[in-house]
Amino acid sequence: MTTFVETQNLSPHIADLGTGQDCPALPGSFIKENAGNPVSNLDTKATTATRHDLVDYRAYSEQGCTEEIAKIREVYHSFDGEDPKGKAVKLDGCRRFAWFARHRDTGDIRVLSRSCHLRWCPMCAKAKQAYITKSTSEWIASSAYPKLLTLTILHTDQPLREQINNLYNYFRRLRQRKKFRDRVTGGIWFFQIKLSRRDGLWHPHLHCLISGLTVSHSVLKRLWQDITYTSEIVDVRSITDKENAARHVARYAARPAEVVNMSLPERIELVEAMHGRRLVGSWGDAKNISFRPPVESGKDEWRNLGSWRMIIELKDCDDIAAAILNAWKKGEPLEPHLAADCFCDIFDDAHGKLQPRPPPQDFLPNFYGDHTNV
Ligand SMILES: [Zn+2]
Repeated sequence: MTTFVETQNLSPHIADLGTGQDCPALPGSFIKENAGNPVSNLDTKATTATRHDLVDYRAYSEQGCTEEIAKIREVYHSFDGEDPKGKAVKLDGCRRFAWFARHRDTGDIRVLSRSCHLRWCPMCAKAKQAYITKSTSEWIASSAYPKLLTLTILHTDQPLREQINNLYNYFRRLRQRKKFRDRVTGGIWFFQIKLSRRDGLWHPHLHCLISGLTVSHSVLKRLWQDITYTSEIVDVRSITDKENAARHVARYAARPAEVVNMSLPERIELVEAMHGRRLVGSWGDAKNISFRPPVESGKDEWRNLGSWRMIIELKDCDDIAAAILNAWKKGEPLEPHLAADCFCDIFDDAHGKLQPRPPPQDFLPNFYGDHTNV
């Protein structure tokens, strides 16, 4: 398991943190004098559940994808059984622990967490999507007339892996065609797949952001039919809202399929068929786009400020915790005097629900340690 770094940009739901009222018993010098301890007044079923979602980083990260996690876990469990080093166990461990950290030079605040980096992990997918959206947006912004191209193949009952192989081969051949190359200077492609409930067949397709001169729909249609023999279904349209388009397609790279409504055998077939297959790629003038954050090596540059749980629990009764959270939410640096050395030690030691400190190597903010399945 490797370390994951989140900035405030990767956790858009932080605004939902609200105004928690509970305050753990801590040394008085760190607590506002009038903070009190209103926990008993709020200890209803509803508030306890809400508070748990915020204070537990895993529960916080699971918001909106609990069912999807359970469905993917079933697939991994079917592969691994009870293997303690299997993917199901890795998924269970994703984002169990998290810490706020401050960059020694810039004062930037990040949340560091152990994450599984599994391709089908919905929590890791959110982070992937955020990063790919950013790099894709930058490329679209630099393109004069970006367009969205969708390529579809005929529905068949062929094994899914074969269909995907065919789709990728057809796409490679399209990019080699002179009529296409002469007009399209580059692009980014994203794989997506749906399962049709009408006929029970898979529907793999590619969404591409392309740059260059306009290629008419009729030319594209002829080229695609010539290559696939069976499909003339292509769609090409101009992009008017560049940011929205980037967000839209980046979702596919992070989540190539909606697995929640699929049966277990369908999910297994999909995960197996996609094994070792790329979900996103680029060519031509988009070739140098990064889909993976660079590995940062400066572990000594980041210093632990305190666990996620600690900072969230203290946010309403301690000025420093509030300042850390605020800096993270706003993406602003934290003043050095608010990151005194004793802060996290005292708080961690004083708190009854300690989380284990990460070993030093886990502070290495190497966002995605395992790039093989991106
Ligand atoms: Zn994960």
